[in-house]
Order: sequence, then structure tokens, then C-alpha cells
Amino acid sequence: MLLPRYFALIPAAGVGARMGADHPKQYARLAGKPMLRHVLDTFAGHGAISHAFVVVSAADGYIDDALRDDSAQPGPALAGRVTVVRNGGDTRRQSVLNGLLAMRAEVADDEWVLVHDAARPGLSPALVERLIAGVRDGDVGGLLALPVVDTLKRSDSEGRACATVPRAGLWSAQTPQMFRYGLLKKALEAAADVTDEAGAIEAIGFAPRLVPGSARNMKVTLPGDLALAELYLKGLND
Ligand code: C5P
Repeated sequence: MLLPRYFALIPAAGVGARMGADHPKQYARLAGKPMLRHVLDTFAGHGAISHAFVVVSAADGYIDDALRDDSAQPGPALAGRVTVVRNGGDTRRQSVLNGLLAMRAEVADDEWVLVHDAARPGLSPALVERLIAGVRDGDVGGLLALPVVDTLKRSDSEGRACATVPRAGLWSAQTPQMFRYGLLKKALEAAADVTDEAGAIEAIGFAPRLVPGSARNMKVTLPGDLALAELYLKGLND
């Protein structure tokens, strides 16, 4: 019997409104290349990953340049390792579903899909390995995540703390989130309002494994995040 393979799926069809830039945030240049290119290079250069699929919006005018861009740091060859799906949806969930449908002919139901945000350029090969090692022996799948260390406050409508939320057992979810193709597709088709794949899997009654991630795998959301993400990419350890 063939062993299940691992595929990367990168939803990159968001507009990054909170970044306030004139181009989608996944194309902001960090440490010499577009954010999305860091992600694609990590997956394309990783021996465990069979192929990567990236979902962009139909109107995306940046992806071809980003794939060609070897100006500062030549990466691994992307040709033959990355497929562009020009069919992003209105939500992250819909973009991921569209990607899964585009992969259908190449991936069996029990093979693994690692869904990763384009806005997390700090993903390292070691983190990919940690996730795969922590999840591959189970059937449900799992995700990188970090235990919450801050004390959590709930705010009232005037921006005042009205309660302290116990943080014991709370984690903040990162990506990749790794699930078997068939289960993930079924869960996302059934899901109404989820912000990540794990949420859809939980909603149909399964408990994804939490695998410790890393601060360097931060999500770049606000303009102030760019400088910190660049420090991680240039080698700051955490
Ligand atoms: O906006 P946020 O940072 O939560 O987006 C997470 C990821 O989902 C990003 O890589 C973004 O490009 C992607 N996304 C998408 N389609 C959407 C919205 C977000 O592929 N409609």
C-alpha cells in the first residue's frame, strides 16, 4: 500500500484590508521577496511535500511576478512544484474549498493537506516537520498553535475590562492546519461560519491535535507586524 502523501494548500485570495497598503498584504516584500514567496519557497523546497497549490483571486495581477521574482534570493525551483488556482472565494473557507476542488484529481481522500496562511511567512521547514510528526499517526489531524501566556480580558462596549477570562487550556491557533483531504472537504462543506479548518473539523465532532508552533510563525496583519516578521526571516531566533 502506498503511504499517504502531504500536499500544501495556501489560501492567498484575501485583500489584507487591515494592512492599509495599495496591494494585498501577501505581496508585501519582506527580507528581499514577497511574503507569499517565502511560504511557497518553504513548501517547494521541503522534501516531505509532494506539491503546493496556491489559491488567488481571479483578478490577482501579482502572482506571476511573485513566482518569477528571484531578484534578491534565488529560492528552490518552483516550476512543477506549485500550481496556481485562480479561483479565490469571498471567505477564507470558500478559498480553501475551491483549492480542495481544484486538487481533487491529484489527491486521494486519505492523503494529507497542510493549509497555510499566505500571511505567515515565518514558517520554517522544522515547523513543517514538527507538525507532520505530531499529527501523521492519528486519523483526525491537527494544527500548530501556541499556549496563551497573557492574561485575557473581556471588554465592555466602552473599552473597559469587565471580566478576566481564565487562560488555562487556551491556545492561539496558527497554521499549517493538517487534515486528511476527505475529512477536511466534508467538514468545510458542512461549516457555516469558521475562521480556520480546525474549527470546521471540531464542528463535526472531532478533536484536532494541538502541536506547539512558534512565535516566528506569526500572522502579519497590521503595518507594525512587517518589521518583526522581517527580523524573524533574517534569522532572529525565538
Ligand atoms: O485575513 P486573514 O489574515 O485572516 O487571512 C488569512 C489567509 O486567508 C490569508 O492568506 C488570506 O489571503 C486568505 N484569504 C483567502 N480568501 C479570502 C480571505 C482570506 O484566501 N476571501
